[in-house]
Amino acid sequence: MNALTLSDLWLGTLGAVISYTVILTILFLTLITAFRLLVSRRKIAYFSIMISLLILIIQYFQLVSFQLTQEQSSAAHFTALLLKVLSFVFVNVGVYQLYNATKLKDSLVILMFMIITALVSLTYWYMPDWIQGSADQVRLMQPLGMELYLFLLIFVSFLLVNPRIGQNGKYQLMLTFYFCSHMLHMANLYLFNDRQPIITKFEQWIPTAFHVVLFLFIFERVIEIMQAIYNSSITDALTKLYNRKYFYNRVNQHVAQQIAVTVIFSDIDNFKKLNDTKGHHMGDLVLKQVAQIVKEECESVGICGRYGGEEMVILVTDTEVDASELAERIRARVESETIVTVSMGYSYYRKNITADELIKQADEAMYKAKTSGKNKVVAYA
Ligand code: GH3
Ligand code: MG
Ligand code: MG
Repeated sequence: MNALTLSDLWLGTLGAVISYTVILTILFLTLITAFRLLVSRRKIAYFSIMISLLILIIQYFQLVSFQLTQEQSSAAHFTALLLKVLSFVFVNVGVYQLYNATKLKDSLVILMFMIITALVSLTYWYMPDWIQGSADQVRLMQPLGMELYLFLLIFVSFLLVNPRIGQNGKYQLMLTFYFCSHMLHMANLYLFNDRQPIITKFEQWIPTAFHVVLFLFIFERVIEIMQAIYNSSITDALTKLYNRKYFYNRVNQHVAQQIAVTVIFSDIDNFKKLNDTKGHHMGDLVLKQVAQIVKEECESVGICGRYGGEEMVILVTDTEVDASELAERIRARVESETIVTVSMGYSYYRKNITADELIKQADEAMYKAKTSGKNKVVAYA
């Protein structure tokens, strides 16, 4: 027996088995990730991706067995093709679902593709009846319908899935790898009499790149979802300002580091009356308007949050900024741009003060503004 050379790892049966094993490893890793996500997040997308991965795993086990036994019955060849088409459909369904809540319309589209897939699959079995030719010609023509259908699916994915998802760059790269590998496969099958070993190798290895990008795609999406969950856990849904807990923690951080911050506390005047006379919906709308003004004014100088119902707070972290001027600017803008006014109070950081005390002082100053006529800014004294 000859010694193993480096090219054996790349060419020949061994090379093929190695390339499929690498893909299987990636598929198993992706499968475990999708399974963990399915268990914890119960999103239908992970289920679709798991199905596609399971189909892919069966497909590659079958390819390994083809390599080892070196024979392919017509039924086995058909199964391989069907698995290839189905896995492609499910990968794309899963990718779509990762970015979209599945609606009835989508389910119907998926069902339609399943029916088309079944119909196209029939051409495999009817082809021998349709064409007259040698056994070799029939064998060559049998899979043509399904192979061409895969091209159509790649095209459809580009048209239907790509515009409706994020990470388009990665997705397009995935489709490009898939397209290249399928192109080479077709060229090898239909353009060259004999299969070209070098093309066969590319045909075997390009899917590795496809699956790596698929893995990265899913991984990145998980990070995106986690980021979104984190963001929603620190922000208020209505006003999109930070919530009380996050705001408090940030004040605490700054105070602990003895940074000369200022806390501004604001409360909308007669808000209950607005709710009672114009309705809760109008109340919410005004709340959002006020929050938007607060956000615009403090974006570059600090952090703003919603402390309670119609109470908004600002932590001025830029020590150059005059808090009384900032508060006055917000008060004036609310008065002129909305149908309400705000009363505001503020307090500076002093040595050994706690976050609770600082916020409480600003609240007390705001209360003074309320009791002395409202629609004004008062400093804590
Ligand atoms: P004052 O000038 O003294 O602040 O009077 P006020 O009516 O604004 O004060 P009060 O604290 O008594 O009322 C606050 C009201 O804010 C009570 C509640 O109905 C309303 N509110 C709290 N959160 C929301 C909200 O998310 N949406 C709406 N529409 N109203 C809210
Ligand atoms: Mg109020
Ligand atoms: Mg209030």
